[in-house]
Amino acid sequence: MSRSRVLIVGAGFAGYRAARMLTRVARHTADVTLLNPTDYFLYLPQVAAGTLEPRRVTVSLSGTLPRTRLVLGEADGVDLDRRTVSYVGPEGARGTLEYDRLVLAVGSVNKLLPVPGVAEHAHGFRGMPEALYLRDHVTRQIELAAAADDPADCRARCTFVVVGAGYTGTEVAAQGQLLTDALVRKQPLRRGIRPRWMLLDIAPRVLPELDERLSRTSDRVLRERGVEVRTGASVKEATRDGVLLDDGEFVDTRTLVWCVGVRPDPLVAGLGRPLERGRLLVDPFLNVPGHPEVFACGDAAAVPDLEKPGSYTPMTAQHAWRQGRVAGLNVAASLGHGERRSYRHKDLGFTVDLGGAQAAANPLGVPLSGPLAGAVTRGYHLAALPGNRVRVAADWILDAVLPRQAVQLGLVRSWSVPLDTASPELARVPDDTEDRNRGQDPGRVQDRQDGGNEGNGGNGGTS
Ligand SMILES: Cc1cc2nc3c(=O)[nH]c(=O)nc-3n(C[C@H](O)[C@H](O)[C@H](O)COP(=O)(O)OP(=O)(O)OC[C@H]3O[C@@H](n4cnc5c(N)ncnc54)[C@H](O)[C@@H]3O)c2cc1C
Repeated sequence: MSRSRVLIVGAGFAGYRAARMLTRVARHTADVTLLNPTDYFLYLPQVAAGTLEPRRVTVSLSGTLPRTRLVLGEADGVDLDRRTVSYVGPEGARGTLEYDRLVLAVGSVNKLLPVPGVAEHAHGFRGMPEALYLRDHVTRQIELAAAADDPADCRARCTFVVVGAGYTGTEVAAQGQLLTDALVRKQPLRRGIRPRWMLLDIAPRVLPELDERLSRTSDRVLRERGVEVRTGASVKEATRDGVLLDDGEFVDTRTLVWCVGVRPDPLVAGLGRPLERGRLLVDPFLNVPGHPEVFACGDAAAVPDLEKPGSYTPMTAQHAWRQGRVAGLNVAASLGHGERRSYRHKDLGFTVDLGGAQAAANPLGVPLSGPLAGAVTRGYHLAALPGNRVRVAADWILDAVLPRQAVQLGLVRSWSVPLDTASPELARVPDDTEDRNRGQDPGRVQDRQDGGNEGNGGNGGTS
Protein backbone atom coordinates (compact mmCIF):
# COMPACT_ATOMS: atom_id res chain seq x y z
CA MET A 1 0.00 0.00 0.00
CA SER A 2 1.44 3.41 -0.90
CA ARG A 3 2.10 5.78 1.95
CA SER A 4 0.42 9.18 2.13
CA ARG A 5 2.54 12.30 1.98
CA VAL A 6 1.69 14.74 4.73
CA LEU A 7 3.32 18.15 4.55
CA ILE A 8 3.31 20.46 7.56
CA VAL A 9 4.40 24.03 6.88
CA GLY A 10 5.71 25.78 10.00
CA ALA A 11 7.18 24.18 13.11
CA GLY A 12 5.92 26.50 15.82
CA PHE A 13 3.45 25.59 18.55
CA ALA A 14 0.82 24.30 16.13
CA GLY A 15 3.00 22.65 13.47
CA TYR A 16 5.37 21.02 15.95
CA ARG A 17 2.48 19.48 17.88
CA ALA A 18 0.74 18.34 14.68
CA ALA A 19 3.93 16.58 13.56
CA ARG A 20 4.38 14.94 16.92
CA MET A 21 0.78 13.70 16.96
CA LEU A 22 0.84 12.42 13.41
CA THR A 23 4.06 10.51 13.75
CA ARG A 24 2.57 8.79 16.77
CA VAL A 25 -0.83 7.95 15.33
CA ALA A 26 -0.21 7.40 11.62
CA ARG A 27 3.46 6.52 11.37
CA HIS A 28 2.78 3.24 9.55
CA THR A 29 0.81 4.85 6.74
CA ALA A 30 2.10 8.41 6.38
CA ASP A 31 5.40 10.07 5.55
CA VAL A 32 5.48 13.34 7.44
CA THR A 33 7.55 16.23 6.10
CA LEU A 34 8.04 19.42 8.09
CA LEU A 35 8.98 22.55 6.17
CA ASN A 36 10.43 25.27 8.39
CA PRO A 37 13.07 27.99 7.96
CA THR A 38 14.92 26.99 11.13
CA ASP A 39 15.93 23.61 12.55
CA TYR A 40 14.34 24.41 15.90
CA PHE A 41 11.03 25.02 17.56
CA LEU A 42 11.17 28.36 19.39
CA TYR A 43 9.57 28.32 22.78
CA LEU A 44 9.96 31.71 24.46
CA PRO A 45 12.18 34.53 23.27
CA GLN A 46 13.18 35.29 26.91
CA VAL A 47 16.77 35.59 25.81
CA ALA A 48 16.43 39.35 25.45
CA ALA A 49 16.37 39.74 29.21
CA GLY A 50 19.62 37.86 29.52
CA THR A 51 18.17 35.25 31.85
CA LEU A 52 18.26 32.44 29.29
CA GLU A 53 20.82 31.62 26.66
CA PRO A 54 19.47 31.42 23.08
CA ARG A 55 19.87 27.68 22.62
CA ARG A 56 17.89 26.95 25.79
CA VAL A 57 14.63 28.10 24.23
CA THR A 58 15.21 26.38 20.92
CA VAL A 59 14.19 22.75 20.73
CA SER A 60 15.88 20.73 17.99
CA LEU A 61 13.33 19.48 15.46
CA SER A 62 15.28 16.48 14.24
CA GLY A 63 16.30 15.65 17.81
CA THR A 64 12.74 15.55 19.11
CA LEU A 65 10.78 14.51 16.00
CA PRO A 66 12.89 11.60 14.76
CA ARG A 67 10.20 10.15 12.48
CA THR A 68 9.69 13.42 10.61
CA ARG A 69 11.62 14.54 7.55
CA LEU A 70 12.78 18.10 8.08
CA VAL A 71 13.12 20.33 5.02
CA LEU A 72 14.74 23.67 5.78
CA GLY A 73 13.06 26.45 3.86
CA GLU A 74 10.41 29.08 3.68
CA ALA A 75 7.23 28.39 1.72
CA ASP A 76 6.44 31.14 -0.76
CA GLY A 77 3.54 29.63 -2.69
CA VAL A 78 0.83 27.00 -2.34
CA ASP A 79 -0.84 25.51 -5.42
CA LEU A 80 -4.05 24.00 -4.12
CA ASP A 81 -4.97 22.45 -7.50
CA ARG A 82 -1.64 20.73 -8.09
CA ARG A 83 -1.17 20.04 -4.37
CA THR A 84 2.30 21.47 -4.23
CA VAL A 85 4.15 23.94 -2.03
CA SER A 86 7.10 25.90 -3.38
CA TYR A 87 9.83 27.10 -1.07
CA VAL A 88 13.21 28.79 -0.86
CA GLY A 89 15.95 27.00 1.06
CA PRO A 90 18.42 28.63 3.46
CA GLU A 91 21.04 29.04 0.73
CA GLY A 92 18.64 30.42 -1.84
CA ALA A 93 17.85 27.23 -3.78
CA ARG A 94 14.22 26.78 -4.76
CA GLY A 95 12.25 23.58 -4.28
CA THR A 96 8.77 22.12 -4.55
CA LEU A 97 7.09 19.62 -2.26
CA GLU A 98 4.04 17.53 -3.19
CA TYR A 99 1.44 16.52 -0.67
CA ASP A 100 -1.65 14.39 -0.15
CA ARG A 101 -2.46 16.26 3.05
CA LEU A 102 -1.30 19.76 3.94
CA VAL A 103 -1.20 21.45 7.35
CA LEU A 104 -0.55 25.19 7.28
CA ALA A 105 0.84 26.43 10.59
CA VAL A 106 2.93 29.44 9.60
CA GLY A 107 2.09 31.63 12.59
CA SER A 108 2.29 35.41 12.57
CA VAL A 109 4.59 38.38 12.00
CA ASN A 110 4.93 41.86 13.54
CA LYS A 111 1.97 44.16 13.07
CA LEU A 112 2.74 47.63 11.75
CA LEU A 113 0.57 50.69 12.21
CA PRO A 114 0.77 53.61 9.79
CA VAL A 115 2.91 55.76 12.07
CA PRO A 116 5.64 57.72 10.28
CA GLY A 117 9.16 56.49 10.98
CA VAL A 118 8.19 53.37 12.87
CA ALA A 119 9.13 50.89 10.13
CA GLU A 120 12.57 52.53 9.90
CA HIS A 121 13.36 53.15 13.55
CA ALA A 122 11.54 50.55 15.65
CA HIS A 123 12.27 46.91 16.26
CA GLY A 124 9.86 44.11 17.01
CA PHE A 125 10.06 41.16 19.32
CA ARG A 126 8.69 38.22 17.38
CA GLY A 127 11.60 35.90 16.71
CA MET A 128 14.99 34.87 18.01
CA PRO A 129 17.03 37.34 15.90
CA GLU A 130 15.04 40.28 17.26
CA ALA A 131 15.44 39.03 20.84
CA LEU A 132 19.21 38.68 20.32
CA TYR A 133 19.38 42.09 18.73
CA LEU A 134 17.49 43.74 21.57
CA ARG A 135 19.71 42.23 24.25
CA ASP A 136 22.84 43.40 22.46
CA HIS A 137 21.43 46.78 21.63
CA VAL A 138 20.29 47.51 25.19
CA THR A 139 23.65 46.40 26.59
CA ARG A 140 25.43 48.61 24.07
CA GLN A 141 23.32 51.65 24.94
CA ILE A 142 24.24 51.38 28.61
CA GLU A 143 27.92 50.97 27.73
CA LEU A 144 27.82 53.97 25.39
CA ALA A 145 25.91 56.01 27.95
CA ALA A 146 28.50 55.21 30.59
CA ALA A 147 31.24 56.55 28.32
CA ALA A 148 29.32 59.57 27.02
CA ASP A 149 30.56 63.07 27.84
CA ASP A 150 27.33 64.72 26.76
CA PRO A 151 24.64 64.32 29.46
CA ALA A 152 21.86 64.60 26.83
CA ASP A 153 23.35 61.72 24.83
CA CYS A 154 23.70 59.69 28.02
CA ARG A 155 20.04 60.33 28.91
CA ALA A 156 18.80 59.41 25.42
CA ARG A 157 20.74 56.15 25.40
CA CYS A 158 19.37 55.24 28.81
CA THR A 159 15.77 55.82 27.72
CA PHE A 160 13.89 52.81 26.36
CA VAL A 161 10.40 53.14 24.90
CA VAL A 162 8.16 50.11 24.51
CA VAL A 163 4.91 50.54 22.61
CA GLY A 164 2.12 48.05 23.27
CA ALA A 165 1.34 46.76 26.77
CA GLY A 166 0.09 43.32 25.82
CA TYR A 167 1.96 40.34 27.27
CA THR A 168 4.94 40.90 24.98
CA GLY A 169 5.45 44.61 25.72
CA THR A 170 4.72 44.15 29.42
CA GLU A 171 7.29 41.38 29.73
CA VAL A 172 9.86 43.32 27.69
CA ALA A 173 9.52 46.45 29.86
CA ALA A 174 9.44 44.55 33.17
CA GLN A 175 12.45 42.41 32.34
CA GLY A 176 14.23 45.21 30.48
CA GLN A 177 14.27 47.43 33.56
CA LEU A 178 15.84 44.60 35.58
CA LEU A 179 18.42 44.00 32.88
CA THR A 180 19.49 47.62 32.56
CA ASP A 181 19.62 48.09 36.34
CA ALA A 182 21.97 45.09 36.45
CA LEU A 183 24.04 46.50 33.58
CA VAL A 184 24.40 49.87 35.30
CA ARG A 185 25.67 48.13 38.43
CA LYS A 186 28.54 46.89 36.28
CA GLN A 187 29.59 50.44 35.44
CA PRO A 188 31.32 51.43 38.68
CA LEU A 189 32.34 54.86 37.40
CA ARG A 190 28.82 55.79 36.29
CA ARG A 191 26.60 54.52 39.08
CA GLY A 192 24.53 57.69 38.77
CA ILE A 193 22.94 56.55 35.52
CA ARG A 194 19.28 55.70 35.96
CA PRO A 195 17.80 53.78 33.04
CA ARG A 196 14.31 54.96 32.16
CA TRP A 197 11.82 52.51 30.67
CA MET A 198 8.49 53.75 29.31
CA LEU A 199 5.60 51.45 28.45
CA LEU A 200 2.89 53.00 26.28
CA ASP A 201 -0.50 51.72 25.29
CA ILE A 202 -3.50 53.39 23.77
CA ALA A 203 -5.74 51.21 25.98
CA PRO A 204 -6.72 52.37 29.50
CA ARG A 205 -4.72 49.59 31.22
CA VAL A 206 -1.79 47.29 30.70
CA LEU A 207 -2.63 43.78 29.43
CA PRO A 208 -5.93 45.13 28.07
CA GLU A 209 -6.98 41.77 26.67
CA LEU A 210 -6.39 39.80 29.85
CA ASP A 211 -8.16 39.49 33.19
CA GLU A 212 -8.13 42.82 35.09
CA ARG A 213 -6.47 41.18 38.09
CA LEU A 214 -3.44 40.22 35.97
CA SER A 215 -3.41 43.75 34.71
CA ARG A 216 -3.41 45.26 38.22
CA THR A 217 -0.59 43.00 39.42
CA SER A 218 1.57 43.74 36.38
CA ASP A 219 0.91 47.48 36.63
CA ARG A 220 1.96 47.49 40.27
CA VAL A 221 5.16 45.49 39.66
CA LEU A 222 6.11 47.69 36.71
CA ARG A 223 5.62 50.93 38.65
CA GLU A 224 7.44 49.62 41.72
CA ARG A 225 10.38 48.83 39.46
CA GLY A 226 10.34 52.36 38.11
CA VAL A 227 8.84 51.69 34.67
CA GLU A 228 6.77 54.68 33.50
CA VAL A 229 3.45 53.20 32.48
CA ARG A 230 1.50 55.50 30.21
CA THR A 231 -1.96 54.31 29.26
CA GLY A 232 -4.15 56.12 26.74
CA ALA A 233 -0.92 57.16 25.01
CA SER A 234 0.71 56.40 21.72
CA VAL A 235 3.43 57.40 19.29
CA LYS A 236 2.79 59.97 16.57
CA GLU A 237 6.16 59.75 14.89
CA ALA A 238 9.49 58.03 15.28
CA THR A 239 12.75 59.62 14.22
CA ARG A 240 16.43 58.85 14.48
CA ASP A 241 16.65 60.89 17.68
CA GLY A 242 13.54 59.80 19.48
CA VAL A 243 9.78 59.51 19.48
CA LEU A 244 7.04 62.10 19.35
CA LEU A 245 4.13 61.09 21.57
CA ASP A 246 0.56 61.93 20.66
CA ASP A 247 0.36 64.51 23.49
CA GLY A 248 3.16 66.47 21.80
CA GLU A 249 6.01 65.38 24.12
CA PHE A 250 9.24 64.42 22.38
CA VAL A 251 11.23 61.67 24.11
CA ASP A 252 14.93 61.47 23.26
CA THR A 253 15.77 57.81 22.85
CA ARG A 254 17.75 55.37 20.73
CA THR A 255 15.39 52.48 21.47
CA LEU A 256 11.85 51.95 20.31
CA VAL A 257 10.48 48.45 20.82
CA TRP A 258 7.30 47.81 18.85
CA CYS A 259 5.01 45.31 20.56
CA VAL A 260 1.60 46.39 19.27
CA GLY A 261 0.67 42.88 18.26
CA VAL A 262 0.98 40.50 15.39
CA ARG A 263 -0.72 39.82 12.10
CA PRO A 264 -1.06 36.44 10.36
CA ASP A 265 1.83 35.34 8.18
CA PRO A 266 1.17 36.78 4.69
CA LEU A 267 1.60 33.34 3.07
CA VAL A 268 -2.03 32.44 3.80
CA ALA A 269 -3.35 35.53 1.99
CA GLY A 270 -1.82 34.19 -1.23
CA LEU A 271 -4.02 31.10 -1.22
CA GLY A 272 -7.03 32.94 -2.59
CA ARG A 273 -9.29 31.38 0.08
CA PRO A 274 -11.58 33.32 2.44
CA LEU A 275 -9.79 35.16 5.24
CA GLU A 276 -10.91 36.60 8.54
CA ARG A 277 -8.71 39.61 9.40
CA GLY A 278 -5.88 38.04 7.44
CA ARG A 279 -6.25 34.60 9.02
CA LEU A 280 -7.19 31.63 6.85
CA LEU A 281 -10.77 30.66 7.58
CA VAL A 282 -11.22 27.03 8.63
CA ASP A 283 -14.15 25.00 9.95
CA PRO A 284 -14.25 23.61 13.50
CA PHE A 285 -12.36 20.54 12.22
CA LEU A 286 -9.52 22.87 11.11
CA ASN A 287 -10.27 22.08 7.47
CA VAL A 288 -10.11 24.73 4.77
CA PRO A 289 -13.64 24.73 3.27
CA GLY A 290 -13.69 23.13 -0.19
CA HIS A 291 -10.33 21.45 0.40
CA PRO A 292 -10.73 18.44 2.69
CA GLU A 293 -7.02 17.68 2.23
CA VAL A 294 -5.91 21.07 3.61
CA PHE A 295 -5.83 21.97 7.32
CA ALA A 296 -4.70 25.14 9.08
CA CYS A 297 -4.12 25.96 12.73
CA GLY A 298 -2.43 28.39 15.11
CA ASP A 299 -2.07 32.15 14.63
CA ALA A 300 -2.44 31.90 10.84
CA ALA A 301 -5.88 30.25 11.02
CA ALA A 302 -9.25 31.73 11.98
CA VAL A 303 -10.67 28.86 14.03
CA PRO A 304 -14.30 29.22 15.18
CA ASP A 305 -14.38 29.42 18.99
CA LEU A 306 -17.03 26.90 19.97
CA GLU A 307 -16.87 28.19 23.56
CA LYS A 308 -17.78 31.69 22.36
CA PRO A 309 -20.01 31.27 19.31
CA GLY A 310 -19.56 33.95 16.69
CA SER A 311 -15.91 34.61 17.53
CA TYR A 312 -12.55 33.06 16.62
CA THR A 313 -9.93 31.68 18.97
CA PRO A 314 -7.31 34.25 19.98
CA MET A 315 -3.71 34.10 18.75
CA THR A 316 -2.11 32.42 21.72
CA ALA A 317 0.30 29.57 22.24
CA GLN A 318 -2.29 27.80 24.31
CA HIS A 319 -4.68 27.56 21.38
CA ALA A 320 -1.98 26.91 18.77
CA TRP A 321 -0.57 23.99 20.77
CA ARG A 322 -3.97 22.36 21.19
CA GLN A 323 -5.04 23.05 17.64
CA GLY A 324 -1.86 21.36 16.45
CA ARG A 325 -2.92 18.24 18.29
CA VAL A 326 -6.40 18.28 16.74
CA ALA A 327 -4.95 18.97 13.28
CA GLY A 328 -2.64 15.96 13.69
CA LEU A 329 -5.49 13.74 14.80
CA ASN A 330 -7.80 14.93 12.02
CA VAL A 331 -5.18 14.39 9.34
CA ALA A 332 -4.72 10.89 10.75
CA ALA A 333 -8.51 10.40 10.71
CA SER A 334 -8.62 11.46 7.07
CA LEU A 335 -6.10 8.66 6.41
CA GLY A 336 -8.26 6.10 8.19
CA HIS A 337 -6.94 6.32 11.75
CA GLY A 338 -9.68 7.17 14.24
CA GLU A 339 -12.50 9.70 14.11
CA ARG A 340 -12.08 13.35 13.31
CA ARG A 341 -12.98 15.81 16.06
CA SER A 342 -13.88 19.48 16.28
CA TYR A 343 -11.62 21.93 18.09
CA ARG A 344 -12.97 23.12 21.41
CA HIS A 345 -10.93 24.58 24.22
CA LYS A 346 -11.62 26.78 27.22
CA ASP A 347 -8.82 29.12 28.29
CA LEU A 348 -6.95 27.67 31.25
CA GLY A 349 -5.61 31.03 32.34
CA PHE A 350 -2.56 33.06 31.53
CA THR A 351 0.89 33.66 32.91
CA VAL A 352 3.00 36.79 32.51
CA ASP A 353 6.65 36.47 33.54
CA LEU A 354 7.75 39.83 34.94
CA GLY A 355 11.31 38.77 35.67
CA GLY A 356 13.05 38.19 38.99
CA ALA A 357 10.67 36.29 41.23
CA GLN A 358 7.67 38.24 39.98
CA ALA A 359 4.85 37.17 37.69
CA ALA A 360 1.12 37.57 37.27
CA ALA A 361 -0.88 34.43 36.65
CA ASN A 362 -4.43 33.15 36.81
CA PRO A 363 -4.25 29.36 36.40
CA LEU A 364 -7.79 28.00 36.09
CA GLY A 365 -9.07 31.50 36.93
CA VAL A 366 -7.30 31.74 40.34
CA PRO A 367 -5.43 35.07 40.45
CA LEU A 368 -1.85 34.83 41.73
CA SER A 369 0.91 37.36 42.18
CA GLY A 370 4.41 37.61 43.65
CA PRO A 371 6.80 34.69 44.04
CA LEU A 372 3.97 32.12 44.02
CA ALA A 373 2.89 33.34 40.57
CA GLY A 374 6.58 33.32 39.56
CA ALA A 375 6.92 29.69 40.60
CA VAL A 376 3.67 28.69 38.84
CA THR A 377 4.73 30.54 35.67
CA ARG A 378 8.13 28.92 35.47
CA GLY A 379 6.74 25.52 36.44
CA TYR A 380 4.21 25.85 33.65
CA HIS A 381 6.88 26.80 31.12
CA LEU A 382 9.08 23.91 32.17
CA ALA A 383 6.21 21.47 31.84
CA ALA A 384 5.24 22.84 28.44
CA LEU A 385 8.76 22.91 26.95
CA PRO A 386 9.22 19.87 24.73
CA GLY A 387 12.97 19.74 25.44
CA ASN A 388 15.90 21.44 27.26
CA ARG A 389 14.06 21.48 30.58
CA VAL A 390 17.09 20.83 32.75
CA ARG A 391 19.14 23.47 30.95
CA VAL A 392 16.39 26.09 31.27
CA ALA A 393 15.89 25.31 34.97
CA ALA A 394 19.66 25.52 35.50
CA ASP A 395 19.78 28.92 33.77
CA TRP A 396 17.00 30.25 36.00
CA ILE A 397 18.72 28.99 39.14
CA LEU A 398 22.05 30.48 38.08
CA ASP A 399 20.35 33.76 37.26
CA ALA A 400 18.96 33.88 40.79
CA VAL A 401 22.37 33.53 42.40
CA LEU A 402 24.88 34.99 39.95
CA PRO A 403 25.15 38.41 38.30
CA ARG A 404 24.10 38.62 34.65
CA GLN A 405 26.73 38.47 31.95
CA ALA A 406 26.99 42.00 30.62
CA VAL A 407 28.44 41.58 27.16
CA GLN A 408 27.10 42.28 23.71
CA LEU A 409 28.26 40.03 20.91
CA GLY A 410 27.10 42.40 18.17
CA LEU A 411 26.32 39.64 15.69
CA VAL A 412 22.75 40.69 14.87
CA ARG A 413 22.62 44.24 13.59
CA SER A 414 19.77 46.69 13.22
CA TRP A 415 19.41 46.37 9.45
CA SER A 416 19.19 42.58 9.62
CA VAL A 417 16.06 42.59 11.80
CA PRO A 418 13.65 45.00 10.08
CA LEU A 419 10.27 45.43 11.72
CA ASP A 420 8.41 44.96 8.46
CA THR A 421 9.28 41.41 7.46
CA ALA A 422 7.45 38.21 6.64
CA SER A 423 10.35 36.25 8.18
CA PRO A 424 10.94 37.37 11.77
CA GLU A 425 12.49 33.98 12.49
CA LEU A 426 15.45 34.73 10.20
CA ALA A 427 18.00 37.50 10.43
CA ARG A 428 18.62 39.11 7.06
CA VAL A 429 22.09 38.36 5.69
CA PRO A 430 24.03 40.19 2.99
CA ASP A 431 23.58 38.70 -0.47
CA ASP A 432 27.08 37.27 -0.82
CA THR A 433 26.65 36.37 -4.51
CA GLU A 434 26.06 40.01 -5.26
CA ASP A 435 28.93 41.00 -3.02
CA ARG A 436 31.35 38.61 -4.68
CA ASN A 437 30.37 40.05 -8.06
CA ARG A 438 31.17 43.49 -6.74
CA GLY A 439 34.42 42.19 -5.26
CA GLN A 440 33.35 43.10 -1.73
CA ASP A 441 33.57 41.23 1.49
CA PRO A 442 30.05 40.55 2.81
CA GLY A 443 31.15 41.50 6.33
CA ARG A 444 32.08 44.97 5.09
CA VAL A 445 28.69 45.37 3.47
CA GLN A 446 27.15 44.55 6.81
CA ASP A 447 29.09 47.34 8.53
CA ARG A 448 28.28 49.83 5.82
CA GLN A 449 24.56 49.10 5.86
CA ASP A 450 24.51 49.13 9.64
CA GLY A 451 26.03 52.56 9.83
CA GLY A 452 23.65 53.98 7.28
CA ASN A 453 20.51 52.43 8.63
CA GLU A 454 20.72 52.33 12.37
CA GLY A 455 18.27 54.99 13.44
CA ASN A 456 16.94 54.10 16.87
CA GLY A 457 18.59 50.75 16.66
CA GLY A 458 21.90 52.53 16.30
CA ASN A 459 25.19 51.58 17.80
CA GLY A 460 26.67 54.99 17.33
CA GLY A 461 29.27 53.54 14.99
CA THR A 462 31.43 52.37 17.84
CA SER A 463 31.34 48.61 17.52
C1 LIG B 1 7.33 37.62 22.79
C2 LIG B 1 6.10 36.77 22.74
C3 LIG B 1 5.56 36.29 23.91
C4 LIG B 1 4.43 35.50 23.88
N1 LIG B 1 3.93 35.05 25.06
C5 LIG B 1 2.85 34.27 25.04
C6 LIG B 1 2.33 33.76 26.25
O1 LIG B 1 2.86 34.04 27.32
N2 LIG B 1 1.25 32.96 26.18
C7 LIG B 1 0.65 32.64 24.99
O2 LIG B 1 -0.34 31.88 24.98
N3 LIG B 1 1.09 33.13 23.83
C8 LIG B 1 2.19 33.93 23.82
N4 LIG B 1 2.66 34.41 22.65
C9 LIG B 1 1.95 34.10 21.40
C10 LIG B 1 2.37 32.75 20.91
O3 LIG B 1 3.78 32.71 20.81
C11 LIG B 1 1.73 32.47 19.53
O4 LIG B 1 0.34 32.55 19.66
C12 LIG B 1 2.12 31.08 19.05
O5 LIG B 1 3.51 31.02 18.82
C13 LIG B 1 1.38 30.73 17.76
O6 LIG B 1 1.78 29.46 17.35
P1 LIG B 1 1.89 29.12 15.79
O7 LIG B 1 2.32 27.69 15.72
O8 LIG B 1 0.66 29.51 15.10
O9 LIG B 1 3.01 30.07 15.25
P2 LIG B 1 4.56 30.14 15.63
O10 LIG B 1 4.81 29.52 16.95
O11 LIG B 1 4.97 31.53 15.38
O12 LIG B 1 5.21 29.20 14.53
C14 LIG B 1 5.16 29.48 13.17
C15 LIG B 1 6.25 28.66 12.51
O13 LIG B 1 6.10 28.77 11.12
C16 LIG B 1 7.34 29.05 10.53
N5 LIG B 1 7.08 29.77 9.29
C17 LIG B 1 6.64 31.04 9.13
N6 LIG B 1 6.49 31.33 7.83
C18 LIG B 1 6.85 30.22 7.16
C19 LIG B 1 6.92 29.89 5.78
N7 LIG B 1 6.60 30.77 4.84
N8 LIG B 1 7.34 28.66 5.43
C20 LIG B 1 7.69 27.75 6.39
N9 LIG B 1 7.63 28.00 7.70
C21 LIG B 1 7.21 29.22 8.09
C22 LIG B 1 8.07 29.87 11.58
O14 LIG B 1 9.46 29.81 11.42
C23 LIG B 1 7.64 29.15 12.85
O15 LIG B 1 8.48 28.07 13.13
C24 LIG B 1 3.80 35.19 22.65
C25 LIG B 1 4.35 35.69 21.46
C26 LIG B 1 5.49 36.46 21.50
C27 LIG B 1 6.06 36.98 20.22
